This record gives sequence, structure tokens and C-alpha cells, in this order.
Amino acid sequence: MSRAWAERVARELRGEAKLDEPMSRHTALKVGGPADLFIEPADLPDLQEALAMLSAEGVPYLVVGGGYNLLVRDGGFRGCVISLRGLDAMRPLPGGRLEVWAGVSNRMLCTVAAENCLGGMEFLIGIPGSFGGALAMNAGAHGAETLQRVESLTTLRQGGIAVRKGEELSFGYRFLQLLPGEIVVCATLRLEPTERRLVEERMSGFLASRGSSQRVGFPSAGSFFKNPPGEQAWRLIDQAGLRGVGIGGAQVSELHANFLVNRGGASATDFLALAALAKERVRECSGVALEEEVRVVGEG
Ligand SMILES: Cc1cc2nc3c(=O)[nH]c(=O)nc-3n(C[C@H](O)[C@H](O)[C@H](O)COP(=O)(O)OP(=O)(O)OC[C@H]3O[C@@H](n4cnc5c(N)ncnc54)[C@H](O)[C@@H]3O)c2cc1C
Repeated sequence: MSRAWAERVARELRGEAKLDEPMSRHTALKVGGPADLFIEPADLPDLQEALAMLSAEGVPYLVVGGGYNLLVRDGGFRGCVISLRGLDAMRPLPGGRLEVWAGVSNRMLCTVAAENCLGGMEFLIGIPGSFGGALAMNAGAHGAETLQRVESLTTLRQGGIAVRKGEELSFGYRFLQLLPGEIVVCATLRLEPTERRLVEERMSGFLASRGSSQRVGFPSAGSFFKNPPGEQAWRLIDQAGLRGVGIGGAQVSELHANFLVNRGGASATDFLALAALAKERVRECSGVALEEEVRVVGEG
């Protein structure tokens, strides 16, 4: 992508645009090199126009929500990073349903669901990030998952709008099947009319049950690895003797062995080296192959 072209996109966009934007500003781990172009379209038509320009120029793009599950390598992202923060509408619909756009934060969704006496999404209260990220990752906790509540999902595929019913979606543990480049823009949730007091009590209970084990005191992306079937990743990492072990500024948290934390000054390379060490030691120690939950993107 030429600088002149990126500057033209930035001028034509109604939303925000930045050139050479450090991704360390947009990820929970606080690491990651620059994106050539970082944009925040103002609304859906603005996003569609940006996508048309990117597609005409053959520029790769990456959608980012809150960056709570994202590790961007130190070389950054050659192309355009798109934040959907501008798509932040929410609308209660008849029949206990709620339309939620990708840029809404999970916390705001929970607040509005409670205000409208709608239960079913309380588990999201302690999961940081955007609702688009929660859909794309099928974020879950306390035995519930985001996609279980989806009545319909609206995405952009090659610039065109596609709507799928919940039962047509293919999803699983921290996984939603999307086409390459497909962007989640909005979902309608099927919720349960519930007394506001009960919704709020459940949310307080979920927040309390996260307990102190997740307050690790340093930037992290939550669980770095998925839990293998019938196993807990933290237990395997702990058994492999890695609790507290560090490489550069990255460290296996002393408090939660599946949280890799930035003790200050870490690079993405430090995190990748530590993750590789954890995988190697866990495989040697217990024969289990750990798989990253965190999505790793960008140039080395
Ligand atoms: C302290 C802590 C606790 C956590 N606890 C939990 C937990 O209990 N359960 C859990 O599931 N997760 C947990 N997480 C991880 C994280 O919060 C979730 O995965 C969250 O859903 C990520 O949302 P995000 O908006 O930050 O997504 P990002 O990290 O920005 O993106 C994640 C992935 O989704 C893609 N993506 C994002 N938005 C879209 C979109 N609109 N369309 C297409 N693709 C998109 C990105 O390209 C990327 O591949 C935790 C994280 C932290 C830091």
C-alpha cells in the first residue's frame, strides 16, 4: 500500500484514520508493531466504502475489537486494521430480543440487557472486549457461550451483507466458522424476560466468582491457551514447572498459569518464545498439545 493511497483513504473516510499506528495501543498485551493504516469507520456505509477501496487496491485487512484476545507480532500489520468501535448501536426488539452491533462493549450489552429486564447474557459481564469479538471468538464462561443466544447474525462478505439464522452457524469452543475476510457487524439475541434485580444479582455473582485468580496485576489476554478436552491448560502449565517463568518482559503469571503477562517492556517476540516454551514443556511432561486461544497475527 502506498502512503499516498493510504492518505487518500484517510481523507475519504468519515470516521477516524491513522497511518503507522502502533498496535500495542490496541491490544491488551500492550505489544505489537505498527499497522500501515488503522481506521475506525463512522458507520456501516462508511465501513462498506472503506472495504470497497481496500478490495479495489488488493489491500489485506484485519478487524480488531478490544484487542483482548489478540497478539500482534513486532513487525506490525502490512495492510489495514479496522476497528468497529463506531458501530455501537443497540435496540430492544419485541419478544425478548436485542439487536446488538459489533462495536458495543460486553459491559454495555450487559447493562442494557439488565435495564430492559432481559436475562441470558450475564456471563459476558467479566469478559472484556467488544460484542463483535465475543461473537467471532464465541466467548464463554460459567457454562454459557455467546453464540448459543444468537437468533440471527449479520456479516459483510466481500462487501455484501449476509444474514444467517443462529441454527445455520457452525461454531464451537472459542470458534465461529467465518469465510476469509468476513466481518461480523451485528447480531439479534434471543433473551429471556427476567426481573432486573435477578439479572443484576447473577452478574454480581459471576464477577465475584472470577475471584482474585484473574486479577493478575499486569496486562494479559486472559487465558493464552485453550483448555484441552477434559483438561485445564493452567494445570498442565503448572505441572510442567512454568509458573512464574519469564522470557524478556513476558512471564507466566504467578497467580494463574494460563495467563501470560507483560511485566513491562515485553515484545511480541517474548510472548511467542514463552508460548513456544510452554507448549514444548507441556508436551514433554504430559503428552498434551496445547493450542493458542489468543489469535496471533502480523509480521515477525
Ligand atoms: C482478564 C481477561 C479475562 C478473560 N476471560 C475470558 C473468558 O472468561 N471467556 C472468554 O471466552 N474469553 C475471555 N477473555 C478473552 C477475551 O476477552 C475474549 O476473547 C473477547 O471476546 C475478545 O473480544 P475483543 O473484542 O477484544 O476481540 P479481539 O481480541 O479484538 O479479536 C479477537 C479475534 O476476533 C476477530 N474479530 C474481532 N471482532 C470481529 C468482527 N467484528 N468480525 C470478525 N472478526 C472479528 C479478530 O480479528 C481476532 O481474530 C479474557 C480476556 C482477559 C484479558
